[in-house]
Amino acid sequence: RAEARGVPPDVLERVRALRDQIAYHDYRYYVLDAPVISDAEYDALMRELRELEQRHPQLVTPDSPTQRVGGAPLPEFGSVRHRTPMLSLDNAYSVEELRAWAARVARLLPGEPVSFVTELKIDGLAISLEYEDGRFVRGATRGDGTVGEDVTQNLRTIRSIPLRLRCDGPVSLDVRGEVYMVKSAFARLNEERARRGEPLFANPRNAAAGSVRQLDPSVTAGRPLDIFCYTLAYLEGMELPPTHWERLQLLRELGLRVNPHVRRCESLDEVVDYIEYWSHRRHELDYETDGIVVKVDRIDQQERLGATAKSPRWAIAYKYPAEQAVTRVLAIDVNV
Ligand code: NAD
Repeated sequence: RAEARGVPPDVLERVRALRDQIAYHDYRYYVLDAPVISDAEYDALMRELRELEQRHPQLVTPDSPTQRVGGAPLPEFGSVRHRTPMLSLDNAYSVEELRAWAARVARLLPGEPVSFVTELKIDGLAISLEYEDGRFVRGATRGDGTVGEDVTQNLRTIRSIPLRLRCDGPVSLDVRGEVYMVKSAFARLNEERARRGEPLFANPRNAAAGSVRQLDPSVTAGRPLDIFCYTLAYLEGMELPPTHWERLQLLRELGLRVNPHVRRCESLDEVVDYIEYWSHRRHELDYETDGIVVKVDRIDQQERLGATAKSPRWAIAYKYPAEQAVTRVLAIDVNV
């Protein structure tokens, strides 16, 4: 094909093989909630593909897994079109890569001071919640980023998702967050499943995702799930605060659950301190984290930085090095 002109045949073949493998693992992970390789192994495939595409940009097609978010929504669920896209995040695997990201941000905002907000990256399932006139009306998975699955009835069973906001006026909003299962509850759930001879969940992330994407809400109700909210994506009936930090405080005031360890950082050195602080302590938390998310605090700056098709330029996920070395042993015969 024309776009492949000048690309050595072995590279073409490798790119095709990587895309096939990644498509298969995306399906296992996003659609079935049952991965058969570790995240570190998956990330290695993705990295290799990204590097080959960078060397041969004529190979980048809109349907390449490097250009897309998540997986296709399951047709068994109703679909929800997100008011604003639910994107993924770019990754930094070292402090150098993080500094390179911050340097790019500074280049795009010449002469402006930039503050950051740092957050633990919760390893769960991305969810969008919609409130109309203060009432919870709809909840959806991220799906392919544009259209997600309607899982409202299942989310209504999660006690940390308020059915009514704490406010007087007719406030409507969209908020994004991560639904997760605490590690202790995950261990108990798998023990019970082992006793009953049922297939085990690979990890708390897959247990949370499998529990939310149940066709029977009573199954979800029996699963110990929680949520941390991290993005106010739309607000009507109240003034929208100009910084991400203030928006997080507003979410708290409205009764939504925000992680207590979020921090505002005035410099990149403070961001690096935060990353170091949590590098070991995060294992003491009762939920899994797979990195630290760093976000530009001012929303006007976020808007000027914008986003690619897959991820915003104003945020990055720092992944701890140990994550890539650890290969989790996954049960092949996992189930939703
Ligand atoms: P991502 O997990 O790297 O980052 C984006 C997600 O981070 C968001 O959608 C959101 O859900 C989450 N998040 C958690 N805390 C957040 C916070 N405080 N602020 C903002 N976002 C927060 O990207 P992805 O596109 O969801 O998936 C990639 C991940 O999935 C990788 O870790 C990859 O290894 C894994 N994966 C694994 C397999 C496999 O087969 N093992 C297959 C596909 C994907």
